[in-house]
Amino acid sequence: MGRAFVYVILGGGVAAGYAALEFTRRGVSHGELCIISEESVVPYERPALSKGFLLPEGIFLPSESWMDSISLSLGIEVVLGTWVKSADVKRKTLLTATGETISYKFLIIATGARALKLEEFGLNGSDAGNVCYLRDLADATRLVDVMQSCIGGNAVVIGGGYIGMECAASLVINKLNVTMVFPEAHTMARLFTPKIASYYEDYYIAKGVKFIKGTVMSSFDMDSDGKVTAVNLKDGSWLPADMVVVGIGIRPNTALFEGQLTMEKGGIKVNGQMQASDSSVYAVGDVAAFPVKLFGETRRLEHVDSARKSARHAVAAIMDLEKTNEFDYLPFFYSRVFTLSWQFYGDNAGEVVHFGDFSGNTFGAYWVNRGNLVGSFLEGGSKEQYEAISKVTRLRPAIEDLGELEKLGLGYALAE
Ligand code: FAD
Ligand code: NDP
Repeated sequence: MGRAFVYVILGGGVAAGYAALEFTRRGVSHGELCIISEESVVPYERPALSKGFLLPEGIFLPSESWMDSISLSLGIEVVLGTWVKSADVKRKTLLTATGETISYKFLIIATGARALKLEEFGLNGSDAGNVCYLRDLADATRLVDVMQSCIGGNAVVIGGGYIGMECAASLVINKLNVTMVFPEAHTMARLFTPKIASYYEDYYIAKGVKFIKGTVMSSFDMDSDGKVTAVNLKDGSWLPADMVVVGIGIRPNTALFEGQLTMEKGGIKVNGQMQASDSSVYAVGDVAAFPVKLFGETRRLEHVDSARKSARHAVAAIMDLEKTNEFDYLPFFYSRVFTLSWQFYGDNAGEVVHFGDFSGNTFGAYWVNRGNLVGSFLEGGSKEQYEAISKVTRLRPAIEDLGELEKLGLGYALAE
């Protein structure tokens, strides 16, 4: 059993959705494009899962999204609920778990990543009825069910990264008592400076969140129904728990292509056209390790903006390689929790210069590496202010006097 397409997108997440959108913008004929996804819904904006979807008013997501109408009118084959279990790059085929062989002329790999499980750190308990992860709509739906069954109870959040921070905020808004546990000295350790982290931590503490830093969980206490009742920590203490949310990082879904495509930084290595080591194959989103021209090195990013833009770029390259320049991407990360909202552009390398009012609503930081401004962070900015820090970061201006930069603060970006 088999079908053949010109273009196949493997994966049904953010990058897949934006690749499909770009194909439709540029024009595909009936029957040329196929999207295969393990998820049972069409591509949706994954960031909404930890924000709107978890809130009491629970905004919803995909089903009637743009994808349904577009796919019908353009004859795009959308194969949902289907796991691809193997790939043969030389033969240009994919084999689904249902036994179908799908062949392609061009393949876009948009398989994203999976949440790391406690078991991968030598711990147990992921299967417990009240332990939740958050990567896809099925996880989010389960998290909401568990959360609603223990309003007023205790939630323990394992991990102090993006998932930990955003889920903790949503749990508080849903009236759970939240304790966050993580090994580092402060939250968002890979991006935030201690000073930035301390602002958010104080805000969370004022909302009732407790932080336990510098230790990790060692085991769960369970009841006879297979539910966690307490989380034991390595430092010997324990926390009562009605539910647990685990956000301890991700692993890119590259397994299908190990040994067939060149890998780097845990992802599929691509060139400036998002083309992998086989010229018929492109990789986009969380799974792609691509050259970031601005930094002069290969990076793999785990953020929605790069998923969207890398996907569009790959499609442009597939459809018009000659006219498509190398991807020239300025990394952009953001988050929104409670009434807070921050944006970051560039690279958080080198020396840090903080600016603004850390006891008020608007503050930020610049990173200066080897004499150039390479990264900018801003909390509580306006549209114009965010545009200004984005623009100045892309320019990589030479900075001679860090004290002067500190004094000018946001004014420096606005004046450039
Ligand atoms: P994904 O969106 O993960 O999509 C991968 C798709 O591939 C999935 O549909 C998966 O089922 C499918 N798939 C994988 N393997 C197979 C297979 N073998 N067969 C069939 N299908 C397969 N980033 C931000 O910048 N800002 C945010 O605010 C933000 N919020 C987030 C909130 C949450 C809860 C999560 C989980 C992530 C968030 N991110 C955010 C990160 C962002 O969503 C990801 O960077 C982005 O989704 C990556 O897109 P992707 O298409 O590469 O991967
Ligand atoms: P992150 O990498 O952001 O954070 C994982 C955190 O868990 C780190 O602080 C890590 O510490 C910590 N950790 C690792 N092992 C343990 C352990 N055994 N016990 C306790 N803590 C541990 O990953 P997330 O899971 O938070 O997020 C998953 C993905 O989703 C990421 O790709 C992220 O970019 C994306 N996402 C992005 C959002 C955004 O951009 N706004 C929002 C939500 C998700 P250490 O650093 O020491 O390993």
